[in-house]
Parts: sequence; C-alpha cells; structure tokens
Amino acid sequence: MNRSAFLAPRGAAILLAAALGTTSVVLPGAPSYAAPPAQQKTQVPGYHRLMVGDMEVTALFDGRIEIDRALLKGAGQEDIQRLLARMFLDGSQGVQTAVNAYLVHTGSNLVLVDAGVANAFGPGLGFIPENLRAAGYDPADVDTVLLTHLHADHSMGLLASGGGMAFPNATVHAPEAEAGFWLDEAKAAGAPEAMQPFFKMARDSIAPYVQAGRFKTFAPGESLVPGVSAVPAHGHTPGHTGYLFGSGDDTLLVWGDIVHSHATQFARPEIAIEFDTDSAQAIATRKAIFADAAERKLLVGGAHLPFPGLGHVRAESEGYAWVPVEFGLTATGR
Ligand SMILES: [Zn+2]
Repeated sequence: MNRSAFLAPRGAAILLAAALGTTSVVLPGAPSYAAPPAQQKTQVPGYHRLMVGDMEVTALFDGRIEIDRALLKGAGQEDIQRLLARMFLDGSQGVQTAVNAYLVHTGSNLVLVDAGVANAFGPGLGFIPENLRAAGYDPADVDTVLLTHLHADHSMGLLASGGGMAFPNATVHAPEAEAGFWLDEAKAAGAPEAMQPFFKMARDSIAPYVQAGRFKTFAPGESLVPGVSAVPAHGHTPGHTGYLFGSGDDTLLVWGDIVHSHATQFARPEIAIEFDTDSAQAIATRKAIFADAAERKLLVGGAHLPFPGLGHVRAESEGYAWVPVEFGLTATGR
C-alpha cells in the first residue's frame, strides 16, 4: 500500500480543509457517528495477582505520595535530575511514589505485609481495605500482619477509620529492633521535634493490637508463620526487615523500603533518602540485597516501586535495573 492510500479519506479531508481554510469537511459518503458515551475517568481496582508456586500473591495499592527530589542525596542534583529525566520524570513537582502492600495466601495463612497509611497522609492514600475487598478478601480474613518497619506509611493502615483494628483477627508482628526504637518513650522524648509525630504514629498504629494482646515482636531467626522467614535489612530504620516467602524457585522477597526512587536508586544504589535513620547502613543493605536478588533471580515486591512493585533486579555493567512482571490473563501468568 502506498502512502497516498493512507491519506484517504481522512488525510484527503484534512488537505481539503486546509485548502479551504476551514477546520472540517464532511466527505460525501463518510460514516456518521452517534455521540460517544461519557469518558469513565475511573481507575481499575488497585490489585495485581500472581501465583508463586502454591502461594497466591496479591499486590495491593494504597495510593501515591509525591517525593521531593531534594530528599534524594548521595549524588548531585544535576545527576539526580538527569536520572529522573531518563525515566521520563520531571521531578520539579515531586516524584510520584507508590505505596504498596502485599497479601500472601500461603495455603495455611493469609498474611499481609505492611498496611499502608490510611488517612494519615491525606486523601491520595488509604485504599488498601478497598483494594483488598476488590481482590476477593475481607480485612477480617487476614490472620497475620508482618511490618517491614514502623513508619506511618506502613503501619497507620492498621487502624480502622474510626480507630480500632482494621484487621480485627490479625496478629501484628514487628522486628524487635524496630519496636525497641519507635516504641521506646525515652528515645521518642529525646528525638528532634520534627521526628516526634513519627514516634507518635508508630505508637498509635499498634495501640489497639497491643491492648488486645495481638502485637508481637520477634528476634532475628525466630519463626513467624510456616513458609515465611525474616530478612534483616537494617538502615532505613533500625529494625527494617524484609520477608522471604516460599523456597527454591518459588520464592518472593517482600523488601519494604530498600528503594524509594526506582528512577535513581537502581542505577545508583548509593543514592539515599533523607529519612533513612542510618544512610550508610541503608546504602550497604541496598547494595547487598540488589546483588543477592540479581544473583538468585528473586521475585521481589517493593513498597515504593511502581505498582504492583513486583519484578526482578538485573545487574548491569554499572548499577542495576528494575524489570517489572508482566500482566497475566490469570494468576499463573498464562
Ligand atoms: Zn515507606
């Protein structure tokens, strides 16, 4: 087919309209259309499901926050801007950052890793209960919540909108080192004023579970639920921890906040974020986990990776790259 064939009849109409100095010409015999329906402008439910061996993994979208690029450090602002631009991100108005949680049906337990932020950070977040229901479960079905750490965007979603437990039948587990930091009243009292709300939110988020005797801390190496083990990943916070589900080829690592800025930190793992408790340790942990995930070809779930935040880490000649999973027709991906 030659190029002129592509022009007719629409192309011809445009040329004719240009020649006549008007914006539209109705060609004789051109099909006429009824007015289209209104645009929907809604989004699909925020969940994405896949099977990992016998485990059913459902990524849940809590919403989005904007991260100020000035919070990224460890490289010059020009470098950071260049890395953002390479991913078609502007960055001048903040960088869109997802907040994800992961619901894993292990066969014996329904486990939620992290709980989102509820309404603590404004109206753009707090959609985990809604998306969990859309995914076919009820918050009351969750028997175990594992917290990667006690920052509000992972723990405030433990609270129902009227206070009380959003997951009324769940036991909440947090790493001992994490609880020892955020729940220690002396540490809270001695923290800079800007940090005070974070200590308070950590305490508030677990309060009803503590009261019900359903908040538990664990030491490294302690068993949690069958088929799940904790992976210490300290640095972002003192007890920050990932969770490894399954074994062998059927493994998922939910790594929490190893990455906040996919556009910059895969290429340059030494880029840190202002609110790391210990940047140097967070960077060392990120490098170690990237190397391990790439080497073992681990399926990863990340709390702040573009939703659904599931994929693999690929080693590049310098740095790493993120390879997201592809949407599948069924949960098995086929
Ligand atoms: Zn976070």
